[in-house]
Amino acid sequence: MNDNLKGTWSLAVAAIKEECKIQGEQKSAEFDNWFDLEYVTCEENDALFTIKCATMNEFTWKKLNELGYIERLKNRIKSASNIAKIDLEPFYQQYELGFGADAQPKILDTKPKVTPTKPAIHRANTTLYSDYTFDNFVTSDGSSTNYAYKTALAVAGNPGRRANPILFYGGVGLGKTHLMNAIGNYIVQNSVEPKKVCYTQAESFLNEFTYSLTTKNPAAFKNKYRKLDVLLLDDIQFLQGKEGIQNELFYVFEELLKRKSQMVFACDRPLTEISQMEERLVSRLSGTSLDLQPPDFETRCAIIYKKLELKGQTLPESVVKSIATLVANNVRALEGALTKVTNYVDIMGGQATVELTQKLLGAQREPLDTARVSILSIIDETAKYYGLTSGDLKAKKRDSKRALARQVVMYLANQLTDYTLTDIGRELGGRDHSTVLHGSEKIATQILSDPDLMQAIDAIKRKVQV
Ligand code: ADP
Ligand code: MG
Repeated sequence: MNDNLKGTWSLAVAAIKEECKIQGEQKSAEFDNWFDLEYVTCEENDALFTIKCATMNEFTWKKLNELGYIERLKNRIKSASNIAKIDLEPFYQQYELGFGADAQPKILDTKPKVTPTKPAIHRANTTLYSDYTFDNFVTSDGSSTNYAYKTALAVAGNPGRRANPILFYGGVGLGKTHLMNAIGNYIVQNSVEPKKVCYTQAESFLNEFTYSLTTKNPAAFKNKYRKLDVLLLDDIQFLQGKEGIQNELFYVFEELLKRKSQMVFACDRPLTEISQMEERLVSRLSGTSLDLQPPDFETRCAIIYKKLELKGQTLPESVVKSIATLVANNVRALEGALTKVTNYVDIMGGQATVELTQKLLGAQREPLDTARVSILSIIDETAKYYGLTSGDLKAKKRDSKRALARQVVMYLANQLTDYTLTDIGRELGGRDHSTVLHGSEKIATQILSDPDLMQAIDAIKRKVQV
């Protein structure tokens, strides 16, 4: 039985990983950052199967619970194995905090003995994406993205002195992460003296901070971030409503500004649309704000040619144009569409044609859809659909119509945005993550047997998509 469940466990983990990938870069990064869980043994007692699993520390375990991974894993194993009662029980492998590419995790306490298979999460975040360079970034004259690109180049050529800080903002998949990393890569490659450059996502930044507090080692965090030459902090919308880390970022900011260290931030919307962020921080982070916009048709074609060149592949011009027509407002989706076509031709052989492209991409709606969906528009449109107001969905009342509408929001926000369960709960008047997970999963099941609900979801989805 133990071995059987181990196989089921592996399949369940792989499926969750795949789901996260489909949900986008942030979810995928969240999985990679947090999913530090290894199957160890399984014991049965009175038809209850308890799987013991190893994870780094209690903090990670709590976080996995909060993000809904433990529940998802349990449910998947239950339905795949037909076992009614399954429990997961953690034990902790404690690592010392290590930074820098060569820092090795040191095991302080391991019981029972298991070989750790993953490095400490804190190291991965300091790595730049080496493929994201200025050379690989395509823009066209006159676009706001081109202005952002040129400013980024100027900043990379003269870090800390040209414009400091700068902030990229814009919807999902428009090149914010790419440009930040391009700045980092450029500085690393072109500086005479070695520079301490750190790219990290706001969520990892927060995790490191919290970890440094729980391990009573706040100095490690301060020493790392307050002594950087270049800080590249991505997805700062994640810091909304999180006072402690906002405060810490404020001090990091002041210190780095004094040192003339370059700071670059990215956010999925203008800072003026961020709620629950300290005024003094908003005014500092805004700096030079640079708007990234979806590329026009010619630029989309040029991006496709660039990606083909990088992969050493070719496609007929008609196919390139057809992809650029079908996928309009998100470069990540454009890449996904391109890969879909080239993979198909690789596997099936033959030539890519316009007909084939339309057939392959016609069925592909999700990547198009996830661009620029905001949770506020999901709440608005869902409320409207059910003849309610947004306020109704945030209020405490629990009649069945409101409860259903709320669960629809939970489901759609989970599917279409990068918000965590906790964030979604907060936008819905302070509901906790397990309520959001439950609501979202309920709709996911119900939709399969309820045509009215399916129609409702479809109608709301169409409204919230730009
Ligand atoms: P964001 O951080 O805004 O969500 P990313 O920087 O992750 O978006 O970009 C998504 C993908 O699209 C990446 O693979 C990136 O290389 C690519 N990309 C985005 N904009 C461009 C561009 N102008 N030229 C080339 N590739 C781009
Ligand atoms: Mg990004």
